[in-house]
Amino acid sequence: MTFQATVLTLYPEMFPGQLGISLAGRALAEGAWSLEAVQIRDFATDKHRSVDDTPAGGGAGMVMRPDVLARAIDHAAQEGDQRPRIFMSPRGRPLTQARVRKLAAGPGVIILCGRFEGVDQRVIEGRSLEEISVGDYILSGGEPAALVLLDAVVRLLPGVMGNESSGIEESFEDGLLEHPHYTRPQVFEGREIPQVLLSGDHRKIAEWRREQAERLTRERRPDLWEAFEAGEKK
Ligand code: SAH
Repeated sequence: MTFQATVLTLYPEMFPGQLGISLAGRALAEGAWSLEAVQIRDFATDKHRSVDDTPAGGGAGMVMRPDVLARAIDHAAQEGDQRPRIFMSPRGRPLTQARVRKLAAGPGVIILCGRFEGVDQRVIEGRSLEEISVGDYILSGGEPAALVLLDAVVRLLPGVMGNESSGIEESFEDGLLEHPHYTRPQVFEGREIPQVLLSGDHRKIAEWRREQAERLTRERRPDLWEAFEAGEKK
Protein backbone atom coordinates (compact mmCIF):
# COMPACT_ATOMS: atom_id res chain seq x y z
CA MET A 1 0.00 0.00 0.00
CA THR A 2 1.31 3.40 -0.92
CA PHE A 3 0.96 6.47 1.28
CA GLN A 4 -2.44 8.09 0.63
CA ALA A 5 -3.01 11.76 1.34
CA THR A 6 -6.48 13.31 1.24
CA VAL A 7 -6.72 17.06 1.70
CA LEU A 8 -10.03 18.77 2.49
CA THR A 9 -9.92 22.35 1.28
CA LEU A 10 -11.86 25.23 -0.25
CA TYR A 11 -8.97 25.62 -2.73
CA PRO A 12 -8.20 22.20 -4.26
CA GLU A 13 -6.40 24.00 -7.11
CA MET A 14 -3.57 24.72 -4.62
CA PHE A 15 -2.68 20.99 -4.79
CA PRO A 16 -0.37 19.30 -5.64
CA GLY A 17 1.32 22.71 -6.10
CA GLN A 18 4.95 22.45 -5.07
CA LEU A 19 4.47 18.72 -4.49
CA GLY A 20 3.95 18.18 -8.21
CA ILE A 21 7.57 19.03 -9.03
CA SER A 22 11.03 17.68 -8.22
CA LEU A 23 11.38 14.53 -6.09
CA ALA A 24 7.87 14.61 -4.60
CA GLY A 25 6.35 15.19 -8.04
CA ARG A 26 8.23 12.30 -9.60
CA ALA A 27 7.22 10.03 -6.73
CA LEU A 28 3.60 11.15 -7.16
CA ALA A 29 3.71 10.41 -10.89
CA GLU A 30 5.28 7.01 -10.21
CA GLY A 31 2.62 6.14 -7.63
CA ALA A 32 4.92 6.08 -4.58
CA TRP A 33 2.22 8.17 -2.91
CA SER A 34 -1.18 9.55 -3.88
CA LEU A 35 -2.91 12.85 -3.33
CA GLU A 36 -6.59 13.68 -3.50
CA ALA A 37 -7.77 17.25 -2.93
CA VAL A 38 -11.44 17.32 -1.95
CA GLN A 39 -13.57 20.47 -2.37
CA ILE A 40 -15.30 21.09 0.96
CA ARG A 41 -17.97 23.18 -0.77
CA ASP A 42 -19.26 20.04 -2.51
CA PHE A 43 -20.64 18.99 0.88
CA ALA A 44 -22.70 22.12 1.47
CA THR A 45 -26.45 21.52 1.16
CA ASP A 46 -28.14 24.92 1.11
CA LYS A 47 -28.81 26.76 -2.12
CA HIS A 48 -25.90 29.19 -1.59
CA ARG A 49 -23.58 26.26 -0.88
CA SER A 50 -22.35 28.08 2.21
CA VAL A 51 -19.51 26.57 4.22
CA ASP A 52 -19.20 29.24 6.90
CA ASP A 53 -21.34 31.34 9.19
CA THR A 54 -20.99 34.10 11.78
CA PRO A 55 -19.31 33.24 15.10
CA ALA A 56 -21.58 32.33 18.00
CA GLY A 57 -21.10 34.98 20.66
CA GLY A 58 -20.29 37.65 18.10
CA GLY A 59 -17.04 39.09 16.85
CA ALA A 60 -15.21 39.47 13.59
CA GLY A 61 -14.90 36.98 10.76
CA MET A 62 -16.59 33.73 9.89
CA VAL A 63 -16.38 30.17 11.20
CA MET A 64 -16.48 26.98 9.11
CA ARG A 65 -19.65 24.97 9.72
CA PRO A 66 -19.34 21.63 11.54
CA ASP A 67 -22.07 19.85 9.54
CA VAL A 68 -20.45 20.58 6.18
CA LEU A 69 -16.98 19.64 7.44
CA ALA A 70 -18.24 16.42 9.05
CA ARG A 71 -19.76 15.30 5.75
CA ALA A 72 -16.51 16.04 3.93
CA ILE A 73 -14.49 14.12 6.53
CA ASP A 74 -16.88 11.16 6.49
CA HIS A 75 -16.64 11.04 2.71
CA ALA A 76 -12.82 11.00 2.88
CA ALA A 77 -12.60 8.51 5.76
CA GLN A 78 -14.72 5.51 4.83
CA GLU A 79 -15.14 2.69 7.35
CA GLY A 80 -11.94 1.07 8.49
CA ASP A 81 -9.78 3.98 7.33
CA GLN A 82 -6.78 3.93 9.69
CA ARG A 83 -5.28 7.22 8.56
CA PRO A 84 -4.75 9.93 11.17
CA ARG A 85 -7.06 12.95 10.73
CA ILE A 86 -5.22 16.19 11.08
CA PHE A 87 -6.52 19.73 11.31
CA MET A 88 -3.87 22.31 10.45
CA SER A 89 -4.18 24.89 13.22
CA PRO A 90 -2.00 27.51 14.91
CA ARG A 91 -3.40 26.16 18.20
CA GLY A 92 -2.07 22.70 17.48
CA ARG A 93 1.02 20.93 18.71
CA PRO A 94 4.05 22.17 16.72
CA LEU A 95 5.04 19.80 13.90
CA THR A 96 8.28 17.94 14.64
CA GLN A 97 10.53 15.65 12.65
CA ALA A 98 9.52 12.83 15.03
CA ARG A 99 5.81 13.29 14.15
CA VAL A 100 6.73 13.52 10.45
CA ARG A 101 8.63 10.22 10.68
CA LYS A 102 5.68 8.50 12.34
CA LEU A 103 3.28 9.77 9.71
CA ALA A 104 5.61 8.61 6.92
CA ALA A 105 5.62 5.10 8.43
CA GLY A 106 1.80 4.97 8.38
CA PRO A 107 -0.88 4.42 5.71
CA GLY A 108 -1.36 8.11 4.90
CA VAL A 109 -3.16 11.11 6.25
CA ILE A 110 -6.40 13.07 6.00
CA ILE A 111 -5.79 16.80 6.36
CA LEU A 112 -8.40 19.47 6.96
CA CYS A 113 -7.38 22.99 5.92
CA GLY A 114 -9.10 25.80 7.80
CA ARG A 115 -9.99 29.22 6.40
CA PHE A 116 -11.56 32.35 7.90
CA GLU A 117 -11.37 32.45 11.72
CA GLY A 118 -11.19 28.67 11.94
CA VAL A 119 -13.58 25.75 12.33
CA ASP A 120 -16.40 24.95 14.77
CA GLN A 121 -14.93 23.23 17.83
CA ARG A 122 -17.53 20.44 17.76
CA VAL A 123 -16.21 18.92 14.53
CA ILE A 124 -12.67 18.91 15.94
CA GLU A 125 -13.95 16.92 18.91
CA GLY A 126 -16.61 14.86 17.11
CA ARG A 127 -14.24 13.63 14.42
CA SER A 128 -11.20 13.30 16.75
CA LEU A 129 -9.03 15.68 14.75
CA GLU A 130 -5.40 16.06 15.79
CA GLU A 131 -4.44 19.75 15.63
CA ILE A 132 -0.98 20.43 14.22
CA SER A 133 0.72 23.81 13.81
CA VAL A 134 3.58 24.68 11.48
CA GLY A 135 4.77 27.58 13.64
CA ASP A 136 3.85 30.50 15.83
CA TYR A 137 2.48 32.78 13.14
CA ILE A 138 -0.89 33.04 11.39
CA LEU A 139 -1.41 31.93 7.79
CA SER A 140 -4.51 32.93 5.85
CA GLY A 141 -5.42 29.27 5.42
CA GLY A 142 -4.35 25.73 6.24
CA GLU A 143 -3.28 24.90 2.65
CA PRO A 144 0.34 26.11 2.85
CA ALA A 145 0.62 24.32 6.20
CA ALA A 146 -0.70 21.09 4.65
CA LEU A 147 1.85 21.42 1.83
CA VAL A 148 4.61 21.85 4.41
CA LEU A 149 3.52 18.76 6.34
CA LEU A 150 3.17 16.63 3.20
CA ASP A 151 6.51 17.83 1.82
CA ALA A 152 8.26 16.78 5.02
CA VAL A 153 6.51 13.38 5.03
CA VAL A 154 6.83 12.51 1.34
CA ARG A 155 10.60 12.99 1.21
CA LEU A 156 10.90 10.22 3.82
CA LEU A 157 8.83 7.67 1.88
CA PRO A 158 10.83 4.72 0.53
CA GLY A 159 12.43 5.47 -2.82
CA VAL A 160 11.57 9.18 -2.92
CA MET A 161 14.97 10.63 -2.08
CA GLY A 162 17.91 9.60 -4.21
CA ASN A 163 20.48 9.40 -1.45
CA GLU A 164 18.87 7.38 1.36
CA SER A 165 21.47 8.34 3.97
CA SER A 166 20.91 12.07 3.60
CA GLY A 167 17.59 11.66 5.38
CA ILE A 168 19.34 10.54 8.54
CA GLU A 169 21.95 13.25 8.97
CA GLU A 170 19.59 16.21 8.81
CA SER A 171 18.94 18.84 11.42
CA PHE A 172 16.68 17.51 14.23
CA GLU A 173 17.27 13.83 13.48
CA ASP A 174 19.80 13.57 16.32
CA GLY A 175 18.42 16.49 18.32
CA LEU A 176 20.94 18.97 16.90
CA LEU A 177 20.95 21.50 14.07
CA GLU A 178 23.12 20.48 11.16
CA HIS A 179 26.73 21.60 10.62
CA PRO A 180 27.54 24.17 7.86
CA HIS A 181 28.18 22.98 4.29
CA TYR A 182 30.86 23.93 1.76
CA THR A 183 31.62 23.06 -1.85
CA ARG A 184 33.80 24.37 -4.69
CA PRO A 185 35.30 26.86 -5.42
CA GLN A 186 37.94 26.47 -2.74
CA VAL A 187 38.11 30.26 -2.29
CA PHE A 188 34.93 32.33 -2.67
CA GLU A 189 35.24 36.14 -2.36
CA GLY A 190 38.27 35.66 -0.16
CA ARG A 191 36.62 33.09 2.11
CA GLU A 192 38.23 29.67 2.30
CA ILE A 193 36.74 26.26 2.98
CA PRO A 194 37.74 25.26 6.55
CA GLN A 195 41.08 23.42 6.28
CA VAL A 196 39.90 20.33 8.16
CA LEU A 197 37.32 19.55 5.45
CA LEU A 198 40.13 19.32 2.88
CA SER A 199 42.36 17.18 5.11
CA GLY A 200 40.88 13.81 4.11
CA ASP A 201 40.96 12.82 7.81
CA HIS A 202 37.45 11.42 8.27
CA ARG A 203 37.63 11.17 12.05
CA LYS A 204 38.68 14.82 12.36
CA ILE A 205 36.00 15.89 9.86
CA ALA A 206 33.31 14.07 11.83
CA GLU A 207 34.57 15.69 15.05
CA TRP A 208 34.55 19.16 13.47
CA ARG A 209 31.03 18.70 12.12
CA ARG A 210 29.82 17.52 15.49
CA GLU A 211 31.39 20.54 17.26
CA GLN A 212 29.80 22.91 14.76
CA ALA A 213 26.40 21.24 15.16
CA GLU A 214 26.62 21.54 18.94
CA ARG A 215 27.78 25.17 18.78
CA LEU A 216 24.99 26.21 16.39
CA THR A 217 22.34 24.46 18.46
CA ARG A 218 23.62 26.05 21.70
CA GLU A 219 23.67 29.53 20.13
CA ARG A 220 20.47 29.45 18.11
CA ARG A 221 18.15 26.99 19.80
CA PRO A 222 18.59 26.91 23.59
CA ASP A 223 15.34 24.89 23.74
CA LEU A 224 16.77 22.09 21.57
CA TRP A 225 20.13 22.28 23.34
CA GLU A 226 18.54 21.79 26.74
CA ALA A 227 16.60 18.76 25.51
CA PHE A 228 19.74 17.38 23.85
CA GLU A 229 21.81 17.74 27.03
CA ALA A 230 19.08 16.15 29.12
CA GLY A 231 19.02 13.22 26.68
CA GLU A 232 22.82 12.80 26.79
CA LYS A 233 22.76 12.50 30.58
CA LYS A 234 20.15 9.71 30.58
N1 SAH B 1 -8.31 32.75 14.22
C1 SAH B 1 -7.32 31.73 14.21
C2 SAH B 1 -6.47 31.79 12.97
C3 SAH B 1 -7.21 31.44 11.70
S1 SAH B 1 -6.20 31.40 10.29
C4 SAH B 1 -6.45 31.87 15.45
O1 SAH B 1 -6.21 32.97 15.89
O2 SAH B 1 -5.96 30.86 15.95
C5 SAH B 1 -7.14 30.38 9.19
C6 SAH B 1 -6.71 28.94 9.08
O3 SAH B 1 -5.36 28.89 8.62
C7 SAH B 1 -6.72 28.12 10.34
O4 SAH B 1 -7.98 27.58 10.62
C8 SAH B 1 -5.69 27.04 10.04
O5 SAH B 1 -6.29 25.97 9.32
C9 SAH B 1 -4.71 27.75 9.13
N2 SAH B 1 -3.48 28.18 9.84
C10 SAH B 1 -3.13 29.46 10.12
N3 SAH B 1 -1.96 29.52 10.77
C11 SAH B 1 -1.52 28.25 10.89
C12 SAH B 1 -0.36 27.65 11.47
N4 SAH B 1 0.58 28.39 12.07
N5 SAH B 1 -0.25 26.31 11.41
C13 SAH B 1 -1.21 25.55 10.83
N6 SAH B 1 -2.33 26.05 10.27
C14 SAH B 1 -2.50 27.39 10.29
